[in-house]
Amino acid sequence: MEIKDEHLICSNPECDSEFMHPVYVQVKHAGKKGQSVSVDSGGVWMHQGISMKDRGTKINMVFWCEWCHEHTEVEFLFHKGSTLVMDRITPDTYSSDTVWRD
Ligand SMILES: [Zn+2]
Repeated sequence: MEIKDEHLICSNPECDSEFMHPVYVQVKHAGKKGQSVSVDSGGVWMHQGISMKDRGTKINMVFWCEWCHEHTEVEFLFHKGSTLVMDRITPDTYSSDTVWRD
């Protein structure tokens, strides 16, 4: 994940776009019930009974690139005071409809 002049930069190595549109946000909480809340262009969704391989809370954000049309997924994981951040180009299973646009 690269941030340049306060802009998130596309994770596609052949693209340098800063025109990244948020299309999906999800917070997963493992707990006993396996709950999550997610936001997409359709609204806010809550789920229970999700399965998680990871412990604790996991936050995923997906952005659609206006230039190359790839989706970048940014994932936050937390472990004993450390915050791990990973990003990757993700298969095109998400819409390009933004969660919010002004
Ligand atoms: Zn791009």
